[in-house]
Amino acid sequence: MFELFKIGFISVSLLDIIDIALVTFIFYKLYSVIRGTIAAQIFYGLVIVLILSFFAQAANFKALGWLLKLISDIWVIAFIILFQPEIRRLLVLVGRSPFFKMFIKSDESGLADVITETAFELSQHQHGALIIIVKSAGIRGVSETGEIINARVSKSLLRSIFFPRSPLHDGAVIIRNDMIEAARCTLPLSSIMNVDGVSLGMRHRAGLGISEQADVLSVIVSEETGSISIAESGRLKRGLSKEALRNYLSNSLKASGEKSLRGLFEQVNKAKT
Ligand code: ATP
Ligand code: MG
Repeated sequence: MFELFKIGFISVSLLDIIDIALVTFIFYKLYSVIRGTIAAQIFYGLVIVLILSFFAQAANFKALGWLLKLISDIWVIAFIILFQPEIRRLLVLVGRSPFFKMFIKSDESGLADVITETAFELSQHQHGALIIIVKSAGIRGVSETGEIINARVSKSLLRSIFFPRSPLHDGAVIIRNDMIEAARCTLPLSSIMNVDGVSLGMRHRAGLGISEQADVLSVIVSEETGSISIAESGRLKRGLSKEALRNYLSNSLKASGEKSLRGLFEQVNKAKT
């Protein structure tokens, strides 16, 4: 069926061509994502074992084939365990690609909207707030300094937490995957004391500090002035308008999906070398 041509005794069909093209594409994508990281070395090892075991089976080396197959099975499992978060993110990336977006209605802008509305209301009431949105790797160590909440993000919950007489209003709220992971968390302070000649208080230094150390977005609402600031990658942007905040959040959160994968591999790489 669909036979295109023959190479010797092997007949090649359209299905075979598509099959080979797909496998090539998957390997190429995987390779381009993990190139230059520690994951790549594990990946090379896996590919070599897979190729060897293929040839061993083709040549009918039963014992060698058995041994290599055993190893390659273990490699696959080890790869999945070692890189479980990255694989999960890869799948999320696939789901987020423009092709699939055509079929699925996503509420990606949801979090950006909720945070914008909340920050704006908090600022109108001059209630101070510090909201950390985790973009890639979790910062469990930091969450554990506060109270674990694990509840879906909502404006009223955030407003209640930062209500000045609430027992949880001090410190930072950590948001990850649209969940409020923890509240009243203590963050590492930035060593930067002032920005543009204005001296920074503890809340702003804490928001800036965590953004220097982790891939997060800090939203800071000042109790003193009601102004809204954002800290990302060790840079502080002060006095954002509602629209500016919304745009910044939705752009940064959208971009983080793609960036986080590479960033994580780099972190893993750094940690292991
Ligand atoms: P504001 O403009 O709201 O006054 P600020 O930058 O001047 O902010 P402070 O007045 O020093 O900061 O705010 C103190 C608040 O900052 C504390 O009540 C606490 O909620 C928060 N805070 C201080 N240190 C930390 C920290 N290490 N981690 C998280 N939050 C902190
Ligand atoms: Mg202050």
